[in-house]
Amino acid sequence: MKWVLFTSGCVVALVALGFLAVDERDVIWEGRTPLCGYCRAELAHHAVVCRECNRSLDWRPTTEECRWCLERKDVDHLLRLYREIAKAGPLPPALLACEPYFDAIDVGACTYCGGIGKVMENGEEAACPVCRDDKRCVACGGTRSVVIGDDGAHRRARERQDAHLRATVRGGVTDLPLNDEVLADEDVAALRGYVEAEDLTDAHGRRVLELARERMKAAFRTLHEEHTKRAKAPGGS
Ligand SMILES: [Zn+2]
Ligand SMILES: [Zn+2]
Ligand SMILES: [Zn+2]
Repeated sequence: MKWVLFTSGCVVALVALGFLAVDERDVIWEGRTPLCGYCRAELAHHAVVCRECNRSLDWRPTTEECRWCLERKDVDHLLRLYREIAKAGPLPPALLACEPYFDAIDVGACTYCGGIGKVMENGEEAACPVCRDDKRCVACGGTRSVVIGDDGAHRRARERQDAHLRATVRGGVTDLPLNDEVLADEDVAALRGYVEAEDLTDAHGRRVLELARERMKAAFRTLHEEHTKRAKAPGGS
């Protein structure tokens, strides 16, 4: 009996030590900044040895809550306003144009197209220039959680930057107009859900997630303006 107790005690101690050791070797994250688990020095991306204290580390990605798409309470707020206005009478043209957007918008949806995947461009239906017909938020892939520190995504983003730089230099040397359609479908697919997606730009060099945010803000603004207008109007609620 004593022997069994001794052995199980040893096993427990070893497991506990193992956990401590693993924990200690991990990279720790302060927001989006990776720090050494030993000395708290800032680390380069995917560092496996700390340059300050020279100890080896386990690189581990982290996640943060998505700051680009709507969470439940935002969607509920938006829809509540929209329904209140719709109930009070016919929608004004500005809101009528947003109707499909409000009908589709949901938690984790692409905020440019509202989650439809398509947009109207010059009277014609086209794939959403942000999510490329995927419907989900490009930053989090609809999960509301963004991965930071992924090696594959990091490398992919770097390759993309290099390719763009080479094209810019070549354009300068040959004086040929630069083909700036740098937002390829594969880039969105490869970087969706990773923090590197924040650097995806459209043909005019604008960050696509910012375009999406602007569109969402415009939709909110249209709703709020109409809501205020009706509240102030005689007989308004
Ligand atoms: Zn260190
Ligand atoms: Zn979209
Ligand atoms: Zn998101």
